[in-house]
Amino acid sequence: MAPACEAGRVPELPEIEALAGFLREHLVGRTVIGVEVGAISVLKTYDPPPSALAGLQVIAVSRHGKFLDLDVDGLHLVFHLARAGWLRWYDTAPATLVRPGKGPLALRVRLVDDRPADGPADARLATPGFDLTEAGTQKRLAVYLVRDPAQVPGIASLGPDPMAADFDQAALAAILDGARQQLKGLLRDQSVLAGVGNAYSDEVLHAARLSPFAIGGRLDDEQVGRLYTAVREVLAGAVAEASGRPAKELKDAKRAGMRVHGRTGQPCPVCADAVREVSFADSSLQYCATCQTGGKPLADRRLSRLIK
Ligand SMILES: [Zn+2]
Repeated sequence: MAPACEAGRVPELPEIEALAGFLREHLVGRTVIGVEVGAISVLKTYDPPPSALAGLQVIAVSRHGKFLDLDVDGLHLVFHLARAGWLRWYDTAPATLVRPGKGPLALRVRLVDDRPADGPADARLATPGFDLTEAGTQKRLAVYLVRDPAQVPGIASLGPDPMAADFDQAALAAILDGARQQLKGLLRDQSVLAGVGNAYSDEVLHAARLSPFAIGGRLDDEQVGRLYTAVREVLAGAVAEASGRPAKELKDAKRAGMRVHGRTGQPCPVCADAVREVSFADSSLQYCATCQTGGKPLADRRLSRLIK
């Protein structure tokens, strides 16, 4: 039922946060025994080489915006799944060795379970692992092996994390102060706010009852308050919804809970007006005119420009 293009939605903060939780549970305390590369092009760094991870234990898993960061005893295996990338978990990794080729398999990490024995002996001998895969032809999956996550350019330039404990309304007000960007562009700009993309920016703006085309610096205090509440509530709700689910379910997790994003023509769950769509930058956005723009449909600027 979902259009084909939706298969390639970029996972955003809530899905990556839930995936980090899944990986924390499955990886921390386990030792990497090998890394095999199926697509050389996904590796954006060459020093240290992936083989440097062998024999080292995973000590932490964290998220930076939409990046995942596995701390493997001081070396950081960082990846960004982009539009078509995903992680496939194995309780027992396939025995066949990965060789560079054209398939979707980009990277396989093998582990051994040497955590303190409190289960059956065969569980302690398990050799789990995971694959990073990328479907389709648009190769955007990116993997980095660095000594410090800040060496990844996309992480070094990230804005504040909207789910961080210290991200309060004053922090959002400071971001908006003097901003000349439209809210839609501002919210999904990773250097402004880390982790929000095309889908959750639509959802946040709908919850805040603000026009996607409103200029950030022109919001009054009451509107800033609404936007802050919406950012925190929409993201926290989606994190709660996604958390605890296995990796294979997370890529599609966000579709179910969306109120306007990807729902063009369907009734707004708040006011029952039809959800509308307008082009924005390189894609399109969805919104409810009754809830967000005083009933006035937003003009498709690309179209207007062509007519003039
Ligand atoms: Zn509505």
